[in-house]
Amino acid sequence: MKVPAILRLAALLASLFLFAGCAVNPVTGRQNFTLMSEAEEMRTGQKADVDIRKEYGIYDSPSLQSYVNEVGQKLAQKSHRPQLNYHFTVVDSPQINAFALPGGYVYITRGIIAYLNSEAELAAVLGHEIGHVTARHGVQQYTAATAANVGTVILGVLLSQYIGPAGQQLGQSALGIMGNVLLSGYGREHELEADRLGAEYLARSGYDPQAMIKVIGVLKNQELFDIEVAAQEGREPRRYHGIFATHPDNDTRLHEVVDDAKQFAVANANDHRAEFLRQTEGMIFGDSSAHGIIRGNTFQHGELGFSVTFPPNWRIRNQPDKVQAISPQNDALMELSLVENPRGSPADFARQRFHLGVTNEVSTTAINGLPAALVTASTRDGRPLTAGVIYHNDQAFVLAGVGASLTTFDQHHAEISNAIDSFRALTTAERKSIKPLALRTITASRDLTYAELASQSPLGKNAENYLRLLNGQYPDGEPVPGQIVKIVK
Ligand SMILES: [Zn+2]
Repeated sequence: MKVPAILRLAALLASLFLFAGCAVNPVTGRQNFTLMSEAEEMRTGQKADVDIRKEYGIYDSPSLQSYVNEVGQKLAQKSHRPQLNYHFTVVDSPQINAFALPGGYVYITRGIIAYLNSEAELAAVLGHEIGHVTARHGVQQYTAATAANVGTVILGVLLSQYIGPAGQQLGQSALGIMGNVLLSGYGREHELEADRLGAEYLARSGYDPQAMIKVIGVLKNQELFDIEVAAQEGREPRRYHGIFATHPDNDTRLHEVVDDAKQFAVANANDHRAEFLRQTEGMIFGDSSAHGIIRGNTFQHGELGFSVTFPPNWRIRNQPDKVQAISPQNDALMELSLVENPRGSPADFARQRFHLGVTNEVSTTAINGLPAALVTASTRDGRPLTAGVIYHNDQAFVLAGVGASLTTFDQHHAEISNAIDSFRALTTAERKSIKPLALRTITASRDLTYAELASQSPLGKNAENYLRLLNGQYPDGEPVPGQIVKIVK
């Protein structure tokens, strides 16, 4: 959830037939940029860049931005279209992604940067994206319906059916639920071509082109890890760079295209690991305070000044325009959204928002001292719903819960009500104390293990694997004595 929280990501993506995502599923492109003149291409990129900046937000670290830009420009000068005016931007997102717009606009999330382990790997991600730009790869589509999170999508649509026109957006932004599988890749052939071009630009810039294979390994390991987590959570796993069915280590064609680049390589290439770790030290990891922070089952937002505790063991997803919580069995969903400058009382607002007739139950109340209304109603197709509308700082917070069926709703009703009742304003001191997690480095002592680091980590029950992923040592590596190890604090 961002400030302001009313975002139109789904609408944006729908209009962006030009979006070029890489870390994820292949879908057929809709249009081919080779039909476009270079001037047209630049204009298209420039226009979309404005929206991307608005929707994602730019990561607030001039030094990291300039470092990433420097690495990107170095590669771009060695590319097949050095005359383009390239822009390399770190977006303020914990998702694992990188993407390019036509005309030389390249974006990388701080989410993926966290999992890289050298400047050469950063250059590989940027080089791959430059490859899409120089090859003028066609366009992208996004997909609302990947296998991942199908249960949530259905519930999201249920809620939107009920909420009506305003909820249409909500239904479409079931898209948003996909998080990092939102943007789709270009398909196997284009991805391989981008890998080939990226490897060439790496080599020509003085890096070892093998870094391309390492980076694809980073994505593959995220996918393998998510299979584990998905099994714990009873959902379908996400797919990163899903076109690679095999592990990149065994991918013959990938190795072929990377080997082609060796003719351009310098001897004794430096991966500049130490410099990369220095530049990324202190980078925010996970949610940032501008987007709200999840600790345990509590969601807190320093800028908006509120806290809400979701039911125990529900999975919380913080999205640009809302926060969702999903029951462990995927049979109930809560959603928190906000509307600025609401009109009338909370009860008036609730009637309007939920299209309630006079016979529906709306009661005026106060929740932790804040003016509020509680709604008990049912969706158009008869599913029960309960919601709270809470006014705080000229904003209406809408916290709604719906079950997949009457039975599941009854099972979860008390938990949903408790969560609504937990909404409260944060004190000034609390607002100030909300700090996001950040990357730090330590030097491994002789007997250091990831299990030991995990026991002191704020990363939760999968901390050990997160730490291995962060350090490129998934699934079973251990720190080597003297190794600089990334941790999260
Ligand atoms: Zn790609």
